[in-house]
Amino acid sequence: MSKPSRIAIDGPAASGKSTIGGLLAERLSYVYFDTGVMYRAVTWVALQRGIDLADEQGVTALAESIHIQVTQPTVADGRQYTVYADGEDITWQIRRPEVDHGVSPVSAYPGVRMALTAQQRRIGQAGRVVMVGRDIGTVVMPDAELKIYLDASVEERARRRYQEIRERGEPADYEHILRDMRRRDRIDSERDTAPLRPASDAVIIDTTELGVAEVLTEVERWVDQSDP
Ligand code: C5P
Repeated sequence: MSKPSRIAIDGPAASGKSTIGGLLAERLSYVYFDTGVMYRAVTWVALQRGIDLADEQGVTALAESIHIQVTQPTVADGRQYTVYADGEDITWQIRRPEVDHGVSPVSAYPGVRMALTAQQRRIGQAGRVVMVGRDIGTVVMPDAELKIYLDASVEERARRRYQEIRERGEPADYEHILRDMRRRDRIDSERDTAPLRPASDAVIIDTTELGVAEVLTEVERWVDQSDP
């Protein structure tokens, strides 16, 4: 039995997608691609260039024109990959609070999604890929051989994000993170285009009470079981 070649992992913020996706790709020697990076890159560059995030046309034109590149890590500073926008390294900038805050409205614009989805599909077509995001199983790779949907309570997800920020040595406020995460969940699941939801054939795993190793074991069980 061969392993699934295209693996989609979706779920809300801090549900464990990036950690699990990265580890799984490493174990399988597959390409790991985190699609959230692209929406974040558009948001960061828009903020940098003074484009109003409420200006749908302006933000869409930007998404259609910037060149986003994701490569192997170029600096050993804990990054999973290096992200370039038009040649500039923006790996850490896209994790800033103003990007967290602005990214959901930006990613609700249909034109932005169209531009970025087209690039994500091309990466998916090559196969041997673990792609993570919100709409991978439903829109980007609806024919993926394995679809996983990771979930966790919003309080637990806010706690994880809080810890991540503290571990980077930055200040963090739990209540603020929780509020922002609730808002992002709501915008991501209520938007008209490609809302956050599990594909009908996705395996749903609630990670609230699980550690990384347990989730990975569970996902690997599905990788071994799935018959493409
Ligand atoms: O996964 P991450 O939190 O980095 O994603 C940032 C934001 O990008 C999400 O809150 C969502 O608004 C958007 N996104 C999306 N579709 C994807 C991946 C991310 O709309 N496939």
